[in-house]
Formats: sequence, structure tokens, C-alpha cells
Amino acid sequence: MTARWALERSPAQRVVIVGASLAGLRAAEALRAGGFDGSLHVVGDEVHEPYARPPLSKALLAGAKTLEELRLPPMAAVDASWHLGATAVKLDISARRLLLHDGTRLSFDALLIATGARPRRLAAEQIDGVHVLRTLDDARRLRTALLERPTRVTVVGGGFIGLEVAATARQLGLAVTLVDGAPLPMLAAVGNRVAAFFARQHRRHGVDLRLGIGVTGLQADTGQLSAVELADGTRLTADLAVVGLGTVPNNAWLRGSGLLLDGGVRTDAALRVLDKGAKPVPGIVAAGDVARTPHTLFDDEPLRVEHWTNAVDQAGTAARTMLHHLTGATGEPAPYIGVPSFWSDQYDTKILSVGLPALGTESRLLEGDPTDGRFLVGYGRRGRLVGAVAVGHARRLAAYRRQIAARGPWPPTASATAVPAARFTT
Ligand SMILES: Cc1cc2nc3c(=O)[nH]c(=O)nc-3n(C[C@H](O)[C@H](O)[C@H](O)COP(=O)(O)OP(=O)(O)OC[C@H]3O[C@@H](n4cnc5c(N)ncnc54)[C@H](O)[C@@H]3O)c2cc1C
Repeated sequence: MTARWALERSPAQRVVIVGASLAGLRAAEALRAGGFDGSLHVVGDEVHEPYARPPLSKALLAGAKTLEELRLPPMAAVDASWHLGATAVKLDISARRLLLHDGTRLSFDALLIATGARPRRLAAEQIDGVHVLRTLDDARRLRTALLERPTRVTVVGGGFIGLEVAATARQLGLAVTLVDGAPLPMLAAVGNRVAAFFARQHRRHGVDLRLGIGVTGLQADTGQLSAVELADGTRLTADLAVVGLGTVPNNAWLRGSGLLLDGGVRTDAALRVLDKGAKPVPGIVAAGDVARTPHTLFDDEPLRVEHWTNAVDQAGTAARTMLHHLTGATGEPAPYIGVPSFWSDQYDTKILSVGLPALGTESRLLEGDPTDGRFLVGYGRRGRLVGAVAVGHARRLAAYRRQIAARGPWPPTASATAVPAARFTT
């Protein structure tokens, strides 16, 4: 029985997608491309059509891209009912029904949870001058504030978003201080060598890095930020702070649903959500930044990966798993096996990562030289290559990506990652 044939027999089936962003949009496209011709509803709490988040900390913040250039393919291109500005507040997995904030009830045959993540906040963030960066509205507020030329931009947290905001603010000619509790920015994610490069690069561009000292609080004067307090008692005068302390998954609305929610929305390898007994729930899947999924390439460890490509690839798997359920196909749905990848733009350097460097227990400089800003570092665990980061050296990364997908050895062999010999034709 083909999926197409089965779907034609059940035209009244309904799929609901919660989260109208990257994973939600891509899954909607994949469902239609896979032959689903029932009714499709996409629910999203933002009022905007789906847009790309990566430029929010880069080109949009710098003023080099407009909102129009951020848009993902228009909603109208996908045959679906879009509920924008609508928040899902409750999921009943046995009645197979979703409740929206305005009382609307949507029953479904299959459901995708793609509600992403939100910034982790400092307690005292309700004061003017304190920003986070996740949404288009956040980015517009922050850009407006940067254009008012604050005396100094204080970035709290040296993760990718903090570093990108610092780079963009420097490019706008603003004074920037970046504070991180770790001895180097991005240390846990990329290890010593790459983290040391980030520190050098930002210092060279004039960022005042305060490392190894955590932030203990924010001070306000009549509701406006006045200072950032550090653990060693230092008080940094500040009129604008950007807090980039990582994210928390948007899964609170699922409390009481009976789903397993530790560290995200837990799924099996085919992205079916798990109930509290760790059993997959038929026809309900999760994908993207909210999903915590056992990754077959990394010893089935349940991981929540917050990368663009992960959201895109998982959306495809989630759509296939829903189609598997809707068509009553036999056997197990196929697992998600994508190799995570990530990019970051800081100043004029492109940083590309494949696999999961943060899982590495050892790392090694494999190519190039960090002092000239063009190099590649590999990461290994239990005798296998698990990640690679290329700084200004993107061309060679594909070979390492193939090795990670093939569960190649650590350290990687020269022949496995060699550049193929040039072929000449006569
Ligand atoms: C500033 C920034 C820069 C980035 N740069 C890069 C980069 O350079 N490279 C890279 O690989 N990745 C980058 N990312 C990460 C990438 O954008 C994410 O991995 C991707 O957006 C994840 O897509 P998603 O659909 O899973 O989640 P999201 O994009 O977070 O979308 C989830 C949607 O669900 C909505 N929602 C939440 N709860 C509900 C609810 N109860 N009801 C209805 N709707 C709800 C949210 O408001 C949101 O619209 C960046 C992210 C940010 C914020």
C-alpha cells in the first residue's frame, strides 16, 4: 500500500502543527510534498509570518538586511490554515485534542510539537535597557536601542548569540563589554583552541572581555538599567545590556499532558513523543529546538540541538513519521539520522561546525593555524570522531562531516579526509 493511496482513502484526516516557525513550516511543506491531502492547521503565537532567526543577531541587527529578506517561503505557498497570534495552552493526548488560548479546540489525527525555545532570563530583567534576542520583535527593539547610541553595550554571556551581538555592536561603532563566567567564551561548546581564538578575535576588535567572573545582578535607577554587578564585587556602569545565557525549551504548556518533558520534549529516534512511562505516543511528534531526541550517531544520547539544519532535517523526519501513522503503515518509522551543523558570522570570519563538538572528550588541531585565523579542530569521544569546527576554513569541512556520518575513527585518518586527487581529462 503506498502512502498516497492510503491518504486518498482518508481525506478527512487532520494534522495540527504547533509552532509556526522553521520546523513547523518545513514539516507542513514536507507533509504536502509527501502526499498528505487532509486538513492542515499551523498554530503560532507570534503574529509574524515565519521568518529566519539567524540574521536577527547578524545582518538585521547591523542594518544590512530588511525584514523582507528574512522571510521564509510565504505561508500562502503551503496549503494550510494558519492560526497566527494563537497560543496552544493544553494538549489532551487521549482525546487527541489541542486547546488554544481563545478557547478554540482543534482535534487531530497527528500533531507536531515545534514550539522551539526562549531565552533564559536573569531575575531582574523587567528593567528598561535590558534586552534578550530570540524574536523579530526583540531584534527590532534592540536595533532601535543600538541606534540611540548607548554609552556602552554590556553583553551578558559569551555564547554564539552574545558573541554575534558583540561583533555587530562593534561594527556599529559602539563600545562593548562582554562578561562570561567561564575562562573563555564558548568554552563548553567548542573547547580551548576555538574558544581562545574567539577571545583573541573579540579583543582585537576592541571588545572589553571580562572572563571567569559571573554576573550576580542588574541595578536600576528609576526603572532604567544603571549597572551590571559581577561576582567579584565589580560594578560595571551600563545603560544597555543584552542577556545571552542560553535558552529554555517551550514545553511548559505541555505540563499535565502526560508527556515526558525533562530538558525539552522527549522523543524516540523517529521523533514520536514519549509518555511518562517512556513509551512512544502514536501520531504525536516533536522537532526542532524543543525536541530532545536520542541521536543514533551519538550513542543514542537524548540531545536537544538548537541549530537551523537540525530543525529542517527533523521537520522532514517528523513529517514522514506522521505520514507513517496516518497511512497505517506497518513496521517502525525510520529514525532521524542528520549530522548536526551550525554556522556563525563574527566580524569577517565564518565559523562552521559539524557534528557535536561539545560531546568531545578530546580535541586536536587537524588543519591550519589558529594564529592566522584559518584552521580546523576535530573532537573525539570513545575512539570516534564526533565533531569538527572550521574557522575561516569551510572548504575542508565536508570530508569531516562524511566521517562523522560514517562513525569514523578518532583521530581521523589522513586518507579518510584527504582531498580527492584532481582528475584531468585529455
Ligand atoms: C538570534 C539567533 C541567531 C541564530 N543564529 C543561528 C545560526 O547562525 N546558525 C544556526 O544553525 N542556528 C542559529 N539560530 C538557531 C535557529 O534559528 C533555531 O535552531 C531555529 O529557529 C529552530 O527552529 P524551531 O522551529 O525549532 O523553533 P523556533 O524558531 O524557536 O520557533 C518556535 C515557534 O513556536 C512558537 N511557540 C512557542 N510556544 C508556543 C505555543 N504554546 N503555541 C504556539 N506557538 C508557540 C514560538 O513563538 C516560535 O514562533 C539562531 C537563533 C537565534 C534566536
